[in-house]
Amino acid sequence: MGMELGKYKTCVSARSTDKEIVAKAQDGGIVTQLFAFALEQGIIDGAIVTGLGDRPWKPRPFIATTREELLTSRGTKYNVSPNVAWIKEATRSFGLDKVGIVGTPCQMQAVRKVQLYPIGMRDVPDKIALAVGIFCMENFLYKSIQQLVEDHAGQKMQSVKKMTIGKGKFSVYTERGNVVALPLKITEKYEQAGCHVCLDYVANLSDVSTGSVGSPDGWSTVFVRTKKGDHIWSKAIAAGCFETKPIEEVKPGLELVTKLAHEKIHKNEIYLNKRASYGVGKGLRNPYI
Ligand code: FAD
Ligand code: SF4
Repeated sequence: MGMELGKYKTCVSARSTDKEIVAKAQDGGIVTQLFAFALEQGIIDGAIVTGLGDRPWKPRPFIATTREELLTSRGTKYNVSPNVAWIKEATRSFGLDKVGIVGTPCQMQAVRKVQLYPIGMRDVPDKIALAVGIFCMENFLYKSIQQLVEDHAGQKMQSVKKMTIGKGKFSVYTERGNVVALPLKITEKYEQAGCHVCLDYVANLSDVSTGSVGSPDGWSTVFVRTKKGDHIWSKAIAAGCFETKPIEEVKPGLELVTKLAHEKIHKNEIYLNKRASYGVGKGLRNPYI
């Protein structure tokens, strides 16, 4: 084990105290609550989030500038959502000076790259006011998730209320109260190929990152990583936005987060090294470990 969890200042188990946010949040409503608070305080003037597109459960990135818009983005869509592609749009067409953005660990890497090497993105680097990362073991293309839901779980995409991945299962909850849980052995072959070279589980490069793993149902595990993240998180706590518990006092706690992060990284390192052995890529160069 090494630096699987990246650098962080604090880690807690938390959930939003706002009942409206929590009602349709994926986990503890951390992402929506944090952006809603940041909007209200003028820390951001909009956030790039993922709503629903023209087909059931098809993600659509958009720029939320009100609490009502943020509420429509709650919940995880297990598909690629090109949120980073909206950064330029947010600063230029929307004229935002303080941009919030949510994304998977790979998207947090892209955000930091844009800030370091702003080629064609001159306006962007100073305008990222809050980058919230979400934990991610793997992702899927729309067609794949459709096949999992329709062929394997036997449900219509439009009747799905929520999807979750946890405790070794991909679960589909329908509006009529059905729950179908598929073992991850089935979902594995549908994963996006690019996810097999990914070495970050907990969004190491975000200001604040969050996921369900480690915390009880309805709660989230939260890593506060940067000075900026710490400033916003502390203000939100002081304003009563979140209930928190020390991570050491919840089950399964950081032990499980570390174990899953290690498993992901280790599995993908083996794959990277195997590819390098037949000349593809440079093999293992994990910046986090
Ligand atoms: P909410 O307040 O419900 O808000 C959800 C936020 O996520 C919204 O802002 C929305 O814009 C954003 N969002 C939704 N779908 C996407 C997407 N496809 N891409 C980018 N942003 C999106 N957590 C774990 O603990 N373990 C995992 O292995 C894990 N894997 C994940 C894989 C994927 C592909 C995704 C998208 C998320 C995964 N998560 C995982 C994170 C988890 O499902 C929740 O998104 C996270 O806990 C935030 O919940 P919340 O209640 O705080 O967010
Ligand atoms: Fe991105 Fe890695 Fe998640 Fe795949 S597994 S979506 S590459 S963060």
